[in-house]
Amino acid sequence: MTRSPVWHPFTQHGLEEPIPEIARAKGAELWTSDGTRFLDVISSWWVTTHGHCHPRIAAAIAEQAGTLDQIIFAGFTHGPAEAVARDLVAMLPRPLDHVFFSDSGSTAVEVALKMALGFWANRGEARSRIAVMAGSYHGDTVGGMSVGARGVFNRPYSPLLFDVATIPFPGAGAAQETLDALEALCRSPASLAALIVEPLILGAGGMLIYDPATLAAMREICARYGVLFIADEVMTGWGRTGTLTACEQAGVVPDLMCLSKGITGGAVPLAVTMATPAIFDSHWSTDKAKMFFHSSSYTANSIACAAAAANLAIWREEPVLERIAALAEEQAKRLAVLADLPGVHGARQIGTITALEIGDAAGAYLSDLGPRLSAVFRERGVLLRPLGNTVYVMPPYCVSREQLDEIYDAIRAGLALIE
Ligand SMILES: *Cc1c(COP(=O)(O)O)cnc(C)c1O
Repeated sequence: MTRSPVWHPFTQHGLEEPIPEIARAKGAELWTSDGTRFLDVISSWWVTTHGHCHPRIAAAIAEQAGTLDQIIFAGFTHGPAEAVARDLVAMLPRPLDHVFFSDSGSTAVEVALKMALGFWANRGEARSRIAVMAGSYHGDTVGGMSVGARGVFNRPYSPLLFDVATIPFPGAGAAQETLDALEALCRSPASLAALIVEPLILGAGGMLIYDPATLAAMREICARYGVLFIADEVMTGWGRTGTLTACEQAGVVPDLMCLSKGITGGAVPLAVTMATPAIFDSHWSTDKAKMFFHSSSYTANSIACAAAAANLAIWREEPVLERIAALAEEQAKRLAVLADLPGVHGARQIGTITALEIGDAAGAYLSDLGPRLSAVFRERGVLLRPLGNTVYVMPPYCVSREQLDEIYDAIRAGLALIE
C-alpha cells in the first residue's frame, strides 16, 4: 500500500487508524468511494447546519464562481460581501454595526483580540491584558491557543503563548466565584483590555454548559468597568444552542462577536468579527497609523460570501428555528432514555447539542475509551468523535428521526465497552 502524503489534523498517524475517503455527502450522510455510509453526527466538526450540499448554497457557489471569484478587499468591495454584511447587521442586535471578514474561527478570534488592543492603543490607554474562562477553546493559531485552555494540545508551543488572566468556569452553584474573580480582575491596577468567552457552552472543552444569567452578569461587570466583552460564537452561532446566537438567550450584546463555522451553512470557509461603533470609531482617523492592521489574501472571498448570503436567505425565508426546536425535542426524548442507564453520567443538552460521559464522570481527552468508542460507532456507520469519554451529538438540522434513533442506538452499543 502506498502511503498518502496527506498529514491530517488532530490525527496520530502512528496509530494507523483507518482514514475513510469520503466521495460525496448529502443531508446528514457521508458516502465513501466504496459505498459505505456514515451519519455525520458531528456536523463535520460543527460546521454543517442545514445539511451537506444544500441546493441553494451549492447553486449560489456555482453561480458566483463563474462571475467573480476573488478580488483584493483592501480598498475594493463587491456585491456578495456588501449583502452579507448588511444582512448580518440586520439579523444581529444593535450596535454590532461593523463587519470584518476573515477565513476561519481562529482568525475571527485573532481579529477580535487585535481590535480590542487597537481600541485601547488608539485611545491612548495602556490596556493589553485579556481575561479568559477556564477550559475554553478559541482556535489553534498562536493567539487562539493563548486565550484557550492550556494542556496536552498546546504544551509544546507554550513558550510562544502570551499570558492571560483566567476566571473559573461557572459550574453548578459556582457562578458567584466566577463573577467575583472577574470583578477582582476588572478592579486590579493592570486593567483588563477584554474578556473573551464561549457563550453558554464550552465546545472543545467538553460540552460544558452554564446558565444565561451568568453570561449576562459577566457582560454587565465588563460594561461597568469598560472592559471589552468578546463573544466567541464560532461554535454556538447559527442556531446550535436553540437561538441564532447563544448571547441572545442572555439578552447580551457583546462589543465584539466572532462568527464562522455555520456562516456559510458549512459549505466553504468564511468568518466575521462584528464590532460596535465605539471600536470601529477608535480606528477611524485621517491618521494611517490608526487603521486596523489586519488582512488575509482571501479576505471576504466572493464565492464564500455568496455561500453566506445564500445561508442568510435560508435563515430569513425558511422556518429554521422551528426545525431546530423540533430537533431539540427529538434529541431530549432520546437523551432521557440514555441518561439513567448504568455507566452514563452528566447527560445534558442545550438546543441541538446533547452530551454525556460514558464510564467515569470526568474523562481525559487522551483516555483510550474515546478511540474504542469511535470504533464501535464507526462499525455502525455513525460518525461520532468523542472528546475523551464525553460523547456528544451535534447533527445537521435535517437529521431524521430514524437517523436519530440510529445515533442513540450506537451510543447505547458503546456502553457495552465499559460493562
Ligand atoms: C472551532 C472553534 C474555533 C476555531 O475555529 P476554526 O474555524 O477551526 O479556526 C474558535 N472558537 C470556538 C468556540 C470554536 O468552537
